[in-house]
Formats: sequence, structure tokens, C-alpha cells
Amino acid sequence: MPDAAFGVDAGGTFTKIAFVTARGKILRMTQIPTRPQDGPAAFVGRVAEVLGAWRREGLRARALGFGVAGDVDHEGGRLRVTPNLPGWSGFRFRDAFQKRLRLPTVVENDANCAVWGAYVTELKRRPRTVIGVTLGTGVGGGLVVDGRLHRGATGSAGEIGHTQVVIGGAPCHCGNRGCLEAYAGKYGILREARRRLRAQPRRGRRLRALMAQGGPLSPHLLKLAADRGDGLAREVWERTGSLLGVGLCNAVLLLNPDAVLLLGGVSQAGRWILGPIRRVFAGWSFGTSVRAAVLRCALNAHGGCVGAAHLALEERPSR
Ligand SMILES: [Zn+2]
Repeated sequence: MPDAAFGVDAGGTFTKIAFVTARGKILRMTQIPTRPQDGPAAFVGRVAEVLGAWRREGLRARALGFGVAGDVDHEGGRLRVTPNLPGWSGFRFRDAFQKRLRLPTVVENDANCAVWGAYVTELKRRPRTVIGVTLGTGVGGGLVVDGRLHRGATGSAGEIGHTQVVIGGAPCHCGNRGCLEAYAGKYGILREARRRLRAQPRRGRRLRALMAQGGPLSPHLLKLAADRGDGLAREVWERTGSLLGVGLCNAVLLLNPDAVLLLGGVSQAGRWILGPIRRVFAGWSFGTSVRAAVLRCALNAHGGCVGAAHLALEERPSR
């Protein structure tokens, strides 16, 4: 049996559960509905049932890594605050999992897990310093500094999504205005697209045609429309990518990383989002660190599980 851990990545709708080797390979994987409304204790019970069944089949893990969206108290194994999982704030996940499974457990922010998962599986040469940004409904981030996940004083480091790029700008889910997430998160991108569709009724013909075929407005539809030459869709990506480029340049100037990794569904827009970011990077004055940073999209869609499991193994070195 290989040296391995269980990795659990809780999203707002679905939770991925995986059995992961120390080298980052997924040997078993399943998905269950998160059902946040049932409460965190019931959730832990349902995850424990899956893992209990796997153990009875002979899967042996040395630790459990649990990734969850929100501000995580890593030291205390507790989810401090989460805007997306009502009723889960303050829950002590480490104690709950350890009690149910009798397995050393590590609780970590989901973006940190995704970035660490991409770092260990996709950056084979393991550069020393990396900034990772998860582009989904929200915008999360994780920092690798000197080859280790950088958590900061309270475990809250890397929250690039809530750094400000527009003073007094669009409202963000966190309560502030002008956060990067309010422009580069899915809801920010769609808000910008809807605003342009309303304001410019004669434009966006291809995008409107795709919507008329029954597809709800989404980043994927905006990508398809941009691929087909839709000017309005391309302008939405230009705006999104430019603000993301500014946010990333600010972070790059602080950290001077070897690489900047983009993860998550919105990064599938490929050149439509990378193009404007690269243009901002190329035009940045005082740009030695900006031009040194390699910008790329991560490929692994299950990096969150891999990262959670891998971080758990790192904290529990083999005896
Ligand atoms: Zn915010």
C-alpha cells in the first residue's frame, strides 16, 4: 500500500473526496453533494461514511486534508468565517473529523489547497516562489514562498481576490467595493457582460444568438462568443483580463515570484483572459519582476483534493 492520504475539497454545491499518494496521484475519487443547509456536523458524518467504506475495502491513509472556502484558522483546525456556506462559520472541522475517523486531520483554505495541488503536480521543477489565483465564482489565491505554502500570521495570506483594484468600484460579496473578485470572479464578469448588453442593444449579436439557443450567460458562453468574433464579448474579457493583470502585477511586485498560475473554470477562457494580462505585464514600468514571472494556466481540475491530501502528509511526516 503506497504512502497516501485522503483529500476532501468542499465546494458550495459538490464535495470531492479522493485517495491520493504522496506523489500526488489520485487512486480513488468520488463526489457527493455538499448540502450546506444540513449543517457541518451532518456533512462530516457523510464524508466519514464514504471514507469508512473505502477503509473497509483496504485503502489505508496516514492523514486527512480538508479544504474549504473561507477564512480558515489552520492552527486551530477551524473554519472562522465563510460567506458561501451559511451556518458553517466557527465549526471545528479538525476535531470533528478526528473524532469520527481517528485520523490526523489538517484544515486548509480551498484556494491554498488548489494552488498547492497544482504546485506539486504541475510544476515539476518546483520553482521557489509562486502566486496562484483560483478564478471561479469568487477569486481566491495561494502563495508558495521558498518552496512552502505561505499562510501568514493568521492563516489568511494570499487573498488576492479582496485586494482593491478600483476605488469605490463594484460591490464585492465580501461587503467591500472594487475588489478584484468583483471584476474577475464569475459574478463580476457576468455583471459586466449584462451591463454592456443592456447599454449597447445593437452589439453582441453572436453572444445574443448563443443565449437565444438556450445557454444561460456564463464565462463559457462569453468564451464561445469571443471565439466567433463577438466584439462585445471580447471587450468583457479585455476589461476582466486588464484588471486581473493590474491585480497580479501588484502581487508580483511584492513577491517577485518565478511563476504565476491561473486555476479554475474562468481560466478556461485561455487566450481571451491571458492576452490582456500579458499586455498589462508587458507595459508595466519598473517591471523586472513582472517580466521575470512565467504566466500559465493550470490543467488539473482536481488539484484541491490533491493539495489537501498532500498538505496533510507534509504535516505528518512518515515515521
Ligand atoms: Zn471583496
